[in-house]
Amino acid sequence: MAHTRQILLALVLGILAGGAINLLIPELAPTLDRQLLTPLGQVFLRLLQFIVVPMVFCALVLSFTQVNRDEHVGRYAGQLLGLYVVTSAVALAIGMGVAAWLTPGSGIEDTAPASVKAHDPVPLAQWLVGLVPRNPFEALAEANLLQIIVAAALTGLAARQLPEQSRPFIKVLESGYEITLKILSMVLKLAPVGVFALIASVVATQGLDLLIKLGLYVVGLLLAIAAMALFYLALMAVAGARPMDYLKHFGESLSFALGTASSNATLPIALENARAYGAPHQLTAFALPFGTALKRDGAAVVQGFNALFVAQLFGVDVTLSLAITIFATGLLVSFSTAGVPGAGLVAMSTVLSAAGLPLEGVAVVAGVDRFTDGFRTALNVMGNTTNAMLLSRVRREPETQTEQSNHG
Ligand code: ASP
Repeated sequence: MAHTRQILLALVLGILAGGAINLLIPELAPTLDRQLLTPLGQVFLRLLQFIVVPMVFCALVLSFTQVNRDEHVGRYAGQLLGLYVVTSAVALAIGMGVAAWLTPGSGIEDTAPASVKAHDPVPLAQWLVGLVPRNPFEALAEANLLQIIVAAALTGLAARQLPEQSRPFIKVLESGYEITLKILSMVLKLAPVGVFALIASVVATQGLDLLIKLGLYVVGLLLAIAAMALFYLALMAVAGARPMDYLKHFGESLSFALGTASSNATLPIALENARAYGAPHQLTAFALPFGTALKRDGAAVVQGFNALFVAQLFGVDVTLSLAITIFATGLLVSFSTAGVPGAGLVAMSTVLSAAGLPLEGVAVVAGVDRFTDGFRTALNVMGNTTNAMLLSRVRREPETQTEQSNHG
């Protein structure tokens, strides 16, 4: 397993190297980025994505085939969704509250040139239909996590009813799961290089002047993200889990999310960290892929913060009905934001258009989005993992015995 400290060091070195390229040899930055940094970072991200689907599928089917799992999963899903809605609402309120307090959009000249097209939300009925895979291989090939959960549930529940006939299949999955764990530990050896390249690429190619111009926007957003992270740590403490213990075990997932800006790519590491933390496997095998597909606190913070920023920027009065519209669409949009870099930026247009705010607001913040994306992704991963840990506390699930499960 790669260590959190190594990843954090790679992040710092990546920022320094990217900054040096940006300031000292700006004319070489695009070439260096295209020829070296981006390919290195992409190789690392692809290797992580390579493990996600087989690992999640094997873990889920295995978990569904074991005793009493089927009775639990429906309840897990319901309880997690309840927790998700409440905590995402807090995230949105924090994002909007910090933006209202700091007013980062006042006093900035609008220089947005681009015209941005609104991103249409998917109607609920269509979304529900889309949960059911037409073809299991299509679900796996497209890495559609919600469809994979449904496919794994059907497979696992059927296999449970055919203990004799399914034994060889289960053996294959057990061995497949072990193999994905091994590949993960091999890929993680490359983590410092991958994270270094990803971050250096962002810093080398982003206009630092834009970062300074939008300084209050960036600082405000990071403050709101930090406030939500503190809220989660406090919630963990209230639930009787030690926040430091959580950070010690999940620091690796959080720093990965920061470096890769992808919740999907971080999922295998989150599953591993949950195992080392001693979280009940039957819960996490379901809850973490489920949360990776749906739970986006970072996106919720950003949508609320960003919509108020755009209103301030274009001098639009924030009435109560406008605030409610932003809150409601921001909440919905956060649940449908994909776990890949930049997804939150695309989703902003949905909130802005529902609120009748100028879509040019997306173009104003696009230049700093890759920089803030890592932070909101870390919060997305934190929200997903803490909600699962909180549920296991509330349900008092027996913890998996590991050498490190001495918390709480
Ligand atoms: N990059 C985020 C994630 O992977 C999604 C977003 O852009 O908000 O979780």
